[in-house]
Order: sequence, then structure tokens, then C-alpha cells
Amino acid sequence: MVHNGYVAGVDVGGTKCLAVVIDDDDNIVAESRVATPSGTDALIDVAVEVTRELADVAGGLSAAGFGVPGQLDFQGKMRFAPNLVDVGELAFRERLLGLLDVPVFVDNNANCAATAELTLGAARDSRQAVLLTLGGGLGNSIIVDGVVQRGAHGLAGELGHSMVDPNGPLCPCGRVGCLERYASGSGLTRLAQEAAGSGKAPNLLTYTDGDVELVRGEHVMRGVRDLHDDAIELLEGFSWWVAVGMANVVAVLDPELIVVGGVLVSDWDLLEEPVTRNYRAMVLAGSTREPVRIVPAAMGERAGALGAAIAARGA
Ligand SMILES: [Zn+2]
Repeated sequence: MVHNGYVAGVDVGGTKCLAVVIDDDDNIVAESRVATPSGTDALIDVAVEVTRELADVAGGLSAAGFGVPGQLDFQGKMRFAPNLVDVGELAFRERLLGLLDVPVFVDNNANCAATAELTLGAARDSRQAVLLTLGGGLGNSIIVDGVVQRGAHGLAGELGHSMVDPNGPLCPCGRVGCLERYASGSGLTRLAQEAAGSGKAPNLLTYTDGDVELVRGEHVMRGVRDLHDDAIELLEGFSWWVAVGMANVVAVLDPELIVVGGVLVSDWDLLEEPVTRNYRAMVLAGSTREPVRIVPAAMGERAGALGAAIAARGA
């Protein structure tokens, strides 16, 4: 491959991979999307294909970065990825290095999104911050002294899998009652289906011809915009769970800023008031501690891919 200063970043999501190429000034010069396949070999194939395709468009690459929804150690080995289908332990970086003729960087995709927010976005002026991404799961990244923290083994930043109810529902991670079963896109869908199934959300069912299985989190947002009481109550309950995560992480880390990203941030105009109100009511020593700013992510859906590319420059 020609090494020309262009860097690729690929955000491997639970359902789709979003890939970008950036120039020296962090401008996106090419972009591609493809569905995330199930299975380890298919995942590697798709990651390589999309990178090569972008390399062709850019006339070569200097490095490639990959953000994945799972835990990666410092060798770039995927240790645990409950939100990818049929993907277990995988020497992700090593396999890609053998197939792509450029330096390869890999990290958790929430950490990549945090890198983008820290470099270009909502955390640009912050040294102590926490990123929460409300997507299919609840992604999390921790910034201390202006640096994304990876812990002793690379596995830090999994607030979504902190247990908030020992009698709660089963999580894809194999444990029960994880926060992301409540405070995430899939958590909102689960809460909405539960309410619809027990007769507590009749208005939501009007969006799905009465089919409980088809109720999704987006119907709650639509219901709130249509001023339906059942949807407003569900949004309140959901916001309470998001606030639980925020209050817990503030008690542990004392950040100055919480950045909220992920697909649900497109409804931030609906979420901001109930989330911040519930957070303020429950945070430890709320009357005496400095207020924590809670802001939406600025980099949009490309944050993970952009951050992977930015981090790849040092690979
Ligand atoms: Zn879990």
C-alpha cells in the first residue's frame, strides 16, 4: 500500500461497520458503510475489505484503526465481545496486521468515540470526563487528565455491565441485571415491550398494529412527541436508569463533564431535562459538590470511526 498521510478508521458496530478516511487535518475524505456479519472469519473479511476499498479511493493509507464493541487487551486481542454475534476470543490486531500492509490500531469503540470527542468534539476543553454512548448497549469511556483510560489490562470503562439489580434480566455478557439492560437503546426497547405486554402502554401499540414484539425504543420517542402519557412515563423511567449510571460514575470518578453519545442522542431534546433532573436528585452530595456538565456528543455517528483513525496515527 502507498503510505500517503491518509488514515482509515473503522467503527465495527453491532449491526453495521462505518468506515472513514481522514487527511492530516482530520477532514473526512472518504466514507463507507457495510453490515456487520456474524462469525469471526466473516468479521475479519469485512474489516479488511472495507479498509482496502477505502485505501483504493484514497490512493493508499498510512495506518488503519478499528473500534470494536468489546474488550481488547493491549496486544489488540479481543477478549470478550457479547454484542457481536458468534465472535469469541480473537487476535484481532494480529490477523489484520497480516492482511493489511499498514500499522493497525484497535480499541474498544467507546474509547475511540471518546478520542474523537476529546480531540475535536464536546470534550475538547475538558481533562476529566466520562463518555456514555446510548446505542444498542451502553458504551463507556473514561478520560482522566486528558487521556482515555484503559486500566491495567486494557479492559476499563464498562459501566454498562455494572450490576444494578441482582434479580434483573439476563445480559448478553452472561450475567444478570447489568445497567445496559435498562440504560441503552435495547434497554429502552425492553422496557417499552414490557410495558406494552402488560397493558401499560396502549398508545405505543397503535404504532405497531398491536404487536408487542415490534415495539421499539423509537416508538417511545415518537409517543413523547405525540404527547402520549404512557410514552412520557416510559421516558421518565428510562431517564432514571441513565441517571443511575451517571450518579454512580460521578461518585467514583468526580468528572467535570459527562458526554452522552450513541444513536439515542438524536433525541437529546427529549432526554436532557428528565436525565439531568433525575441525576441531580440522586447524585451523592449534590448540594455541596461542583455541578457536572452533561452535554450531547458533538461528533455524531462518525465519532467511533473518526477516533479510531485519529488514534491510528500513533500506531
Ligand atoms: Zn452485562
